[in-house]
Amino acid sequence: MFGDRRVEMKSPEQVRKMRAAGLVVGRTLELLRGAVAPGVTTAELDRLAEEHIRSHGAVPSFLGYSEPPFPASICASVNEEVVHGIPGARRLEEGDVISIDCGAIVDGWHGDAAITVPVGEVRAEVTELLRVTEESLWAGLAAVRNGGRVTDIGHAVETSVRAAGDYGIVEDYTGHGIGTSMHMSPDVPNYGRPGRGPRLRPGIALAVEPMVVLGDQETGVAEDEWTVVTLDGSWAAHYEHTFALTPDGVWVLTALDGGRERLTALGAPYGGED
Ligand code: MG
Ligand code: MG
Repeated sequence: MFGDRRVEMKSPEQVRKMRAAGLVVGRTLELLRGAVAPGVTTAELDRLAEEHIRSHGAVPSFLGYSEPPFPASICASVNEEVVHGIPGARRLEEGDVISIDCGAIVDGWHGDAAITVPVGEVRAEVTELLRVTEESLWAGLAAVRNGGRVTDIGHAVETSVRAAGDYGIVEDYTGHGIGTSMHMSPDVPNYGRPGRGPRLRPGIALAVEPMVVLGDQETGVAEDEWTVVTLDGSWAAHYEHTFALTPDGVWVLTALDGGRERLTALGAPYGGED
């Protein structure tokens, strides 16, 4: 999984540039969270996102990405869609959940984050799925230590989910290194043994993104060649943050407060400059 590909290490100045990109992403997601409501289409959310990203001097990184080129500025994945959903004419309905993934580039540096948002009132087990998934993301972020290893993160994610109940953890997609590109070495899986993979050192920047489902973790790709769905139709949640490790600790670049509150509550060192 890790091969011998090099991990791009960032200078403090470069991490600050990534913070600028991360804040654009984090603020865009908060805007979209407030816009989610019954009757809203996923294309309307995408339009809001692109306008917001561009008005802050940033470029949407998803637009035109890969092959076939992704046609939008956010991924909008509803209910049994796990990730990579294409925004369109679908209207959100009361009781749905939507995962919104967003990426932006500032001065050549990337930020990448995702949230899952309930549409009005959702079933209690879905509310719990969202809570468990977001909590596992923070468990992963809080496991980062100078001198640790990349798989410490996924081990903490998995431990957190397993302690919460009988959920599926998607294995077909992982977190990733990030910096001058959105997806870089190394992969950051959401499961497995700790103590393996590249060292966590100041200057490393990774996106952590657990995908958790109510049923079985097996996924497939829809005919649009992008949308990832659960094979058993069970509903999914997806949360993501981009962080950098600094000499002081973890700086969650896509969290508006840099992750200070959640990391401190979990007893992890906060490494932000703001
Ligand atoms: Mg993402
Ligand atoms: Mg990502």
